[in-house]
Amino acid sequence: MIDPGHGGKDPGTFLGNDVKEKNIVLNLAQILAKKLEQRLRVEAVLTRNTDIFVPLENRTAFANMQKADLFLSLHVNAYKQGDVYGLETYFLNMATDERAVMLAARENATSEKSISDLQKILNDLMLNTKISESSKLAYDIQEGMMVQVRKKYENIRDLGVKQAPFYVLIGADMPAILVEIGFLTNPVEKKRLQNRKYLESIADGIVSGIENYVKSFEQASVRG
Ligand SMILES: [Zn+2]
Repeated sequence: MIDPGHGGKDPGTFLGNDVKEKNIVLNLAQILAKKLEQRLRVEAVLTRNTDIFVPLENRTAFANMQKADLFLSLHVNAYKQGDVYGLETYFLNMATDERAVMLAARENATSEKSISDLQKILNDLMLNTKISESSKLAYDIQEGMMVQVRKKYENIRDLGVKQAPFYVLIGADMPAILVEIGFLTNPVEKKRLQNRKYLESIADGIVSGIENYVKSFEQASVRG
């Protein structure tokens, strides 16, 4: 299940009418779906295929209903300082640093839930048995992106794998991760994010990450 973040009345990060996170991640989702089907022969389904608003909780609910094997939420980053750039991948857990907290707050912004729902998040985390799988998936996808994108672009910064309480990942029955493919607030990455070739490199990286993830489970089951 591929989840292009935001949509409709929620533009996500935006810099004027032409540059909106919701459009960038929808483009990426459509490129990624094609590559997954062609290269891995799997079925890829999108939580939204057009510019419509989808509440955060409906996205994982849809993935659960469809019995998806993996859940990938696609996003674009932003920060108050323009010199911050790079790619990072998250899985659901308590936040590891201050910027992760701010990012989660922004990505959670459309949810009508209050911060007091943090308790529900904690309960969910404790029941969630997919944390180690999600963490493995996050590392494989982050590495896949780094290897692929660095083949074609210079100055790609690896911000690594992090943890934060994203509403959109809560309640997923399957391994679930959230990818931040660059900062719209950084001039170089802003340009790249609007370029189809860059999105194709990112998609190639995500596909190889998933390929490695699946392979490691196949090898484990052969050995076991
Ligand atoms: Zn976002």
